[in-house]
Amino acid sequence: MKRSFIREILESIDENTISFAGGLPSEKLFPREDLKTATMKIFDNPKAFQYGLSNGITELREKIAARYTKEGFPTNKNNILITTGSQQAMYILAKFYESKDITIEEPSYLGAMNIFRLNHLKMHGIKLEDDGINIEGFKKSFKNTKLAYIIPDFQNPSATTYSDKKREEIAKIVEEEDGILIEDSPYSELYFDKKNISISSKIPKKSFHLGSFSKTLVPSLRIGWIRADEDLIKSLLIIKESIDLHSCGISQYILNEYLEDEVKYENHLQDIRDDYEKKANFFCEQLDKYLPEFKYQKPKGGMFLYGNLEGVDSFALVQKCIEKKVVYVPGNQFYIDKIPNGEIRFNYTHSSFEQIEKGIKLIKSCL
Ligand code: PMP
Repeated sequence: MKRSFIREILESIDENTISFAGGLPSEKLFPREDLKTATMKIFDNPKAFQYGLSNGITELREKIAARYTKEGFPTNKNNILITTGSQQAMYILAKFYESKDITIEEPSYLGAMNIFRLNHLKMHGIKLEDDGINIEGFKKSFKNTKLAYIIPDFQNPSATTYSDKKREEIAKIVEEEDGILIEDSPYSELYFDKKNISISSKIPKKSFHLGSFSKTLVPSLRIGWIRADEDLIKSLLIIKESIDLHSCGISQYILNEYLEDEVKYENHLQDIRDDYEKKANFFCEQLDKYLPEFKYQKPKGGMFLYGNLEGVDSFALVQKCIEKKVVYVPGNQFYIDKIPNGEIRFNYTHSSFEQIEKGIKLIKSCL
């Protein structure tokens, strides 16, 4: 195993470097005042400081479940397991399916691939197309693996969003083959246009749907969750308990308090969407102006912009960029074999408008 290139980059760069590398949300949008109020309130509640249930505090699970139900995916608190970020959700699932074969998208989320390696899962990469995974490839692979990990909403790294047709097709294949789908969806609320229907809602007994408050509120609380059939959740509890007994109670109570006001949360989500859409549009304009050789698909949501500099080794280029104090993540990092290519992932949510323009010009100067 190797450490994550992104985390290593984050550690090595100084504050003068413009970073399009990490998937960092905009700090400007953290609802700090509201979180402060919520935090002060929990000090009156001794339960917030006590050991708690391994699957998470009841009230928070009820609130998460209610959001699914409202969207037409009937869910109750027993379908929810609170995890320490969705990163831990993936770890629990990888442990559950240790040493099995798994179908994944290529490119895919680096953090998931490392967890799968750590737990000896054998990954089978299937090409990701503009409207989702290649269905023929998925079908063939899934027949053997019976287990898949995909990110259908504004994927990390590629920003790809699955078409309704491909969502239907995936659900049908999983059902027919009697397999299991792990649907990782931390970006689903960050849409510019409309929210997509989760694949899991079509196959509730054959899926794990992973969510997180990292991109919608703040990542440092480290709260995510798994939504699944009650029996599946029960099986995962053994692993969850062995890892950390339960996720941080203080974080859960703060979140629960914050989420009491649904309207406030909805308004906050809309602020993020508006801000990120502006940033995404600006990033595209600057790319078209200063780096027209970069070919990409315009994001419809999420935090990333992905594309290709044909004929360029983007891994070699980033070494030069680091010297000029700008960084991005080269696309080869998101492939199982890591063979260099011209692909690049840009994060557009964290930098200022000035930094975006300056950073893209600097990359051009390194080409
Ligand atoms: N899944 C995907 C696709 C991600 O991009 C991330 C964060 N980069 C995670 C899971 C983990 O998020 P967290 O643990 O903060 O919820």
